[in-house]
Amino acid sequence: MFHKILIANRGEIALRVLRAAKELGIQTVAVHSTADADAMHVRLADESVCIGPPPSRDSYLNIHQILAACEITGADAIHPGYGFLSENAKFADILAAHNITFIGPSADHIRVMGDKITAKKTVKALGIPVVPGSDGAVTDDGDAKRIAADIGYPVLIKASAGGGGRGMKVARTEDDLSEALSTARSEAGAAFGDDAVYIEKYLEKPRHIEVQVMGDGAGKAIHLGERDCSLQRRHQKVWEEANSPALNVEQRMKIGETVSKAMADLGYSGAGTIEFLYENGEFYFIEMNTRLQVEHPVTEAITGIDLVHEQIRVASGGGLSARQEDVRFEGHAIECRINAEDPRTFTPSPGTISHFHTPGGLGIRVDSGVYSGYRIPPYYDSLIGKLIVHGRNRVECMMRLRRALDEFVVDGIKTTLPLFQDLVGNPDIANGDYDIHWLENYLAKGD
Ligand code: ADP
Repeated sequence: MFHKILIANRGEIALRVLRAAKELGIQTVAVHSTADADAMHVRLADESVCIGPPPSRDSYLNIHQILAACEITGADAIHPGYGFLSENAKFADILAAHNITFIGPSADHIRVMGDKITAKKTVKALGIPVVPGSDGAVTDDGDAKRIAADIGYPVLIKASAGGGGRGMKVARTEDDLSEALSTARSEAGAAFGDDAVYIEKYLEKPRHIEVQVMGDGAGKAIHLGERDCSLQRRHQKVWEEANSPALNVEQRMKIGETVSKAMADLGYSGAGTIEFLYENGEFYFIEMNTRLQVEHPVTEAITGIDLVHEQIRVASGGGLSARQEDVRFEGHAIECRINAEDPRTFTPSPGTISHFHTPGGLGIRVDSGVYSGYRIPPYYDSLIGKLIVHGRNRVECMMRLRRALDEFVVDGIKTTLPLFQDLVGNPDIANGDYDIHWLENYLAKGD
């Protein structure tokens, strides 16, 4: 087991990782920018090192400074959290060269899944269903026309190096295609320095359903069920649940087994998420995230398995703590991402939190790094906390969520809590009847 873990992140996820390390009796090192000197993860860690000024590129993305912090403190492993360096294959390579364990998959697997065309080819060969489309990058407009006619309109042009929903264009007819291709290519070139694009069938009303996997890196992998993250705004997840209201037990186990078998064959190590669009009973792979995800607590709530413990165990060579037959899916869980934003315009609302009171009681978990009197710095993302609610079934979970939202007090700044109070009372949400466009449509109506 590791002696000391350096947590190369900030905010609620730094605290989340710190908690798991403490439970396992491992020493913790927090790193922070000058803007985060007062942060809770810094206060609670055994040691802390300031790694630079507020901009992320000078601190949380500064590999040299993070390596120096390892050197100073004698940390033997790094947990990258999510975002920042968590999917940076070069970072994983550099750590290996310095005999520091990266708590995550191999650099090769990060690389393969970081390029969407390669990822799609790889998972398809492993038996995972993908969206019908071009086999690779499309450079010729004539080829594009043939492929689009073959799969049928509408089609979606996507950037191979894409991320955050950028560089995507829909073509509804052949007349739109050339323009969609050239716009997508130039946007991708400008945003990612790589103008390779590919074509997929555009799904009109899919749900976003993702499967959580854990691999031991030695040919074993288990799945921990799915999460439904269809409620999104600008491709950012807002509300996540496990299980998906759209799947039954057979569908859950079938897709779970397909994914875990594929990851076992790949020799995948650590936590990963295979994301699918789901429409008319079919799953279509869109991407794999080779890291812990923001929404992992809903999976923890229904399985009772601590995913960060598992990540640390696997990275230290201890293998997985559970076999597939040990994994049980109990009840229902929902997570609300609480952002420091205006709940109607979504403009960020940094500032000082004058009062912070979290809900409690059976089935309630709040993951947050903020506290009364904390000043939210303006430099980072606006997530200030996650409310995770568990119940024996979805109805109980929704009742508890409504009660928990009423108890939650965040004064001094604007937050998205009122949005969740609206959602929890909405009949479509109560019925689990929504797709990836539902939230945008709801917000556009201004209900
Ligand atoms: P990114 O890495 O940029 O987030 P993804 O491939 O994960 O790109 O897709 C982001 C979002 O775009 C999806 O969650 C979905 O809303 C939409 N999307 C992607 N592919 C398709 C498709 N083939 N049909 C319809 N919507 C899609």
